[in-house]
Amino acid sequence: RTMSMSVQQPSKRVQRAETLLHDFRRSSATPLPLLHLVADALVHEMYAGLVSEGGSDQLKMLPTYVEELPSGSEKGLFYAVDLGGTNFRVLRVQLGGHTGEILSQEFKEVAIPPELMVGTGKDLFDFIAGTLASFVDTEDESLKAHFAQSGKVRESGFAFSFPVRQTSVKSGIVIHWTKGFKVDDAVGKDIVKQFQDAISRSGHQIAISALVNDTVGTLAGGRFNFEEETMIGCIIGTGTNACYVERADSVQKWADPLPKSGQMVINMEWGNFHSPFLPRTFADDIVDKDSVNPGDQWFEKMISGMYLGEIVRLVLARMAEEAQLFGGSPPAKLLEKLSLGTPHVSKMHADASPDLQVVAEVLEDVYGIETTTLEERKIVREVCDILGKRGGRLAAAGLYGILKKIGRTERSQNGFQQKKKTVIAMDGGLFEHHEPYRAYMEEALHELMGSEALYEVSLRLQNDGSGVGAALLAASHSQFK
Ligand code: BGC
Ligand code: MG
Repeated sequence: RTMSMSVQQPSKRVQRAETLLHDFRRSSATPLPLLHLVADALVHEMYAGLVSEGGSDQLKMLPTYVEELPSGSEKGLFYAVDLGGTNFRVLRVQLGGHTGEILSQEFKEVAIPPELMVGTGKDLFDFIAGTLASFVDTEDESLKAHFAQSGKVRESGFAFSFPVRQTSVKSGIVIHWTKGFKVDDAVGKDIVKQFQDAISRSGHQIAISALVNDTVGTLAGGRFNFEEETMIGCIIGTGTNACYVERADSVQKWADPLPKSGQMVINMEWGNFHSPFLPRTFADDIVDKDSVNPGDQWFEKMISGMYLGEIVRLVLARMAEEAQLFGGSPPAKLLEKLSLGTPHVSKMHADASPDLQVVAEVLEDVYGIETTTLEERKIVREVCDILGKRGGRLAAAGLYGILKKIGRTERSQNGFQQKKKTVIAMDGGLFEHHEPYRAYMEEALHELMGSEALYEVSLRLQNDGSGVGAALLAASHSQFK
């Protein structure tokens, strides 16, 4: 080791780290005019995607074949399977026939074994079908008797949170995987057929009556629970995406007859939004290069939970290397990929103690860094804040873009018009559990809407949205009505 690697004075180190922090803050900044540019770029992409399927970095704007959202009159017992991010769920929902009325709801949640996330379609679907089958077997006797006597086939909705080109409301082809899944042989094939075949192999008879993206399930659940004015479903969790209610005649690439309702829910797959206005940094480049899908999902990689921890880690690692932030050479583990989880970031970001005790604990638990100065901890928390703020504000710009596309960003003419309501049904772990992120998002949405907005927009957590929504859509598309 040369002299230049010797440990510098704490104040010197902190100063250097602060310079890096300052640069990083600048390159991640999301001032209001930039958010407007991002929103406008998104609107532009939305129009393009509704006209034709473009290249791999264009918004897909996928028609979902959902032409009507739940009315509230859905009734009966339905299953749902929810395959999305980190967890996999099966649900049993008894719908009562009135708005928001769910008579009973049970679920089972299991983690997907990591090897199945990158294995074969057969293994993945056998696992999922097996879990569903054994959950069905836990029905109580009266339910079993009900199905036996009525001769009805059990029906399930399938919330599948990856890009799918739907061919009907209950069939569709996987376009590609995201969020760390990579089941190559399942791509380009009908996902419901693969699932249905695995259900048959399990010896059960269960019909999949609706295939829905998790955002669509969330929107459906929002409509069912809240109100008519729920127009958008949005997930900010492991991955991110949004869907919304579009006028069917605006979907120019739609070749079939227009639906009677005149409406079509569009799955935007906004995670794949790419724009030169997105404030990308060196860390975003590294995250993208090291991912299983380099070049894809840039918006998702900047704002969702799967990547936030890693981006924070990369920034801290650079500070440790270039400014000796934590003393001499950086702790080995800090240089290890994916060593910082987004929950750690959430915790550090939310640390309100005067001496940043939570930050100290996380640094010690995760990286074995035992002593830090308050200045150093402040820098760490600030990195979390910069990135949480960037994510929340960019997500808000995305929602504002959708609102603009559907004509809900008008100003009130004279200030006396009565405000109209618009509800956005939200779900996803980052939105639900990362308080500061959510606060930044809400604040930015209000900034974007402006004080004279005619519409009053609210973000409502639709917990468990995708699963219940999939069951609802299975009910409204029941094959045995
Ligand atoms: C997927 C979307 C999904 C979103 C949220 C993204 O990675 O492409 O289909 O809605 O994650 O789960
Ligand atoms: Mg989910």
